[in-house]
Formats: sequence, C-alpha cells, structure tokens
Amino acid sequence: IIDHSPALELLVDEHGTVCGATGVNRQTGDTWVANAGAVVIATGGCAFLSRALGCNVLTGDGHLMAAEVGAELSGMEFSNAYGLGPAFSSVTKSLFYNWATFYYKDGSPIEGAGSARGRSVIAKTLQTQPVFACLNRADDSIKSWMRTAQPNFFVSFDRQGINPFIQHFPVTLRLEGTVRGTGGLHVVSEDCATTVPGLYAAGDAATRGLICGGFTGGGSHNAAWALSSGFWAGAGAATFGRNARSSATRIALRTGGVALQGKGSHAPDSAEIIRAVQAELFPYERNWYRRGDVLEDSLQRLDALWDRLRSGAC
Ligand SMILES: Cc1cc2nc3c(=O)[nH]c(=O)nc-3n(C[C@H](O)[C@H](O)[C@H](O)COP(=O)(O)OP(=O)(O)OC[C@H]3O[C@@H](n4cnc5c(N)ncnc54)[C@H](O)[C@@H]3O)c2cc1C
Repeated sequence: IIDHSPALELLVDEHGTVCGATGVNRQTGDTWVANAGAVVIATGGCAFLSRALGCNVLTGDGHLMAAEVGAELSGMEFSNAYGLGPAFSSVTKSLFYNWATFYYKDGSPIEGAGSARGRSVIAKTLQTQPVFACLNRADDSIKSWMRTAQPNFFVSFDRQGINPFIQHFPVTLRLEGTVRGTGGLHVVSEDCATTVPGLYAAGDAATRGLICGGFTGGGSHNAAWALSSGFWAGAGAATFGRNARSSATRIALRTGGVALQGKGSHAPDSAEIIRAVQAELFPYERNWYRRGDVLEDSLQRLDALWDRLRSGAC
C-alpha cells in the first residue's frame, strides 16, 4: 500500500502486456514505480469532480491509464447518471425523494417531476429555473424510519435549519458519471480480464452492465459486485502474473501521454483544464439529453484539448 500516491500510468513489456504501474507521491512529488506480473484497475467510476457525495476522489484515472494501453470500454452510453440532492449540499442520496413533491419557485407543483421517474422533467426545468422539493408525502412512521435509515441525509438540512418535510428547499442534479452509471472497462472473461493482456478490472472501474443494465442506483448489488469482481480479478491477475514472472526478464515501458510527461515550458493549468472538461460534461443540455450533434461538438473540443495537453501546449 502506497498512501497519497495515485497511480497515473501503466507499464507494458515489449509485447504490450501490462507489467506494472507508476505514479506520484502527492506529499513529496516523487514518482514511484511498481513492477508486477499483472495489474488490477480498481479506481472506481468517474464523476469529474462534480462534488457528488463520495465521488470527488473518482477522477477516472484508471480508465485513462487502461485506455492508453488500448483497453476497450463498455456501456459508456450509460455514463451520464446524475444524483438528486439539495442544491446547498453534496448529499446525493436520492431514495427519500420517492416521498417528495417538486415545485416551481412560486410554489406550484411541477407536473411529471419525480425521483425514480420524472428526473428528466427536473433536468429540463433546471435548465431555465430553480426546482424545489418537499418530502411531504412521507407519513409519521416513514419520517422516523428515514432518520434512522440514513441519518446523514439530514445533516445538511439540520445545519441550515430546514425541515424538509414541510419546507420547500432547492434541489439540483449532480453528475455521478460512471459511479451510478454503469459504463467502464470491458470485461472479457470470468476472471475480469480486460481486452489487454495482464490487465484486470474490478468494482466501479469495470462495466456493470453485466449485473444491472444502464443505472446502478443504490443498493447492495454495487458493493456485491465490487467485492466479487475484486476477488475474481485478484485471482485472475495472480494466476496470470505467476506465469508472466516465470518467463525471461521483461522490459517495462511507460505508456502515459500526459500524466507524468511534464512536456512544455510550464506545467498545465489543471484548474483551467478541469473547468473546460466540466463545461462539456455537466450541462444537462449536453450530457443528460445527449444528441448526436451536441456530443460531436463537445468531442471536437475535448479532443483538441487532449491534443494540446499531449503536445505540452497548455
Ligand atoms: C451516494 C452513493 C450511495 C451509494 N450507496 C450504495 C449502497 O447503499 N449500497 C451499495 O452497495 N453501493 C452503494 N453505492 C455504490 C458503491 O459506493 C460503489 O459501487 C463501490 O464503492 C465501488 O467500490 P470500488 O472499490 O470499485 O470503488 P470506490 O469505492 O469508488 O474506490 C475507488 C478507490 O480508488 C481510489 N483511486 C482513484 N484513482 C486512483 C489512482 N489514480 N490511484 C490510486 N487510487 C485511486 C479512490 O481514492 C478510491 O478510494 C453508492 C454510491 C454513491 C455515490
């Protein structure tokens, strides 16, 4: 275990087989190298720093590293999950909105708006005006169950002095990307191998289309998949690694185009790059509704940004 030390690039041998990883220690700035018989990517999903609950460490590094060695992704049409929550907090726990009514600012109900069904109506309304919710469909027994079932749901309300059962509060939809969407690294066998020899995937980094279609939602299947696929991927990687290690001494080539390259006269402006990417990923009109021409437009800008980064021009 190397703490505070994100992995940023995979290493491959002369045949393109994955044989390790390299990264940086964020406290010292030193790089580290780990040679290995095989690698399991378990870096979670990607929510593009949207501040959705628990998601701000999930920046898709594993997907990038894997893509840079040629791994295929699967189910990425399901990478646009948005979590529903109060506009003033990061708590995107959505279950209790099944007991909510949604309102315009003037207090009139929004026809068709809902959490499980009707989020598109909320997204559409949010494009032009704020949306408010009130958990006024919960009876007393449900209310007391809610407090014990998910106490952290109420923390931000209590801090703001808002009673969500009687007061209208502003809500928003935060991108959760492939955290609650299901796209990820394509898994080609029961030991969770990817399309690249020596590379395995587990948990949210892998596609979850195999277990739950397009949207994972909440519930124990997510943790069950993380544990099960971790077990299978670990066993698969260990078997692969044992065989690889018994072969002749291997060379290890770096594969990253940007992360540790440090090209150009100055370090890239990370904040500016993050803003530019978020501007393509967050807006509902781009990522929620996903029209071909709009996606094409975004892709052109993102590809151009990536080319500039790779050439050290930004
Ligand atoms: C709001 C919310 C509620 C949820 N509720 C439930 C629930 O009730 N039940 C359930 O089963 N599931 C639930 N889930 C889903 C569940 O949290 C995930 O499916 C599960 O955590 C995935 O486990 P994982 O190990 O694949 O990834 P994660 O738990 O996301 O862990 C990935 C780890 O990789 C690390 N990492 C990222 N990049 C790098 C890098 N470059 N180098 C090194 N490390 C890196 C991250 O810091 C993180 O620690 C919920 C998810 C959300 C967002």
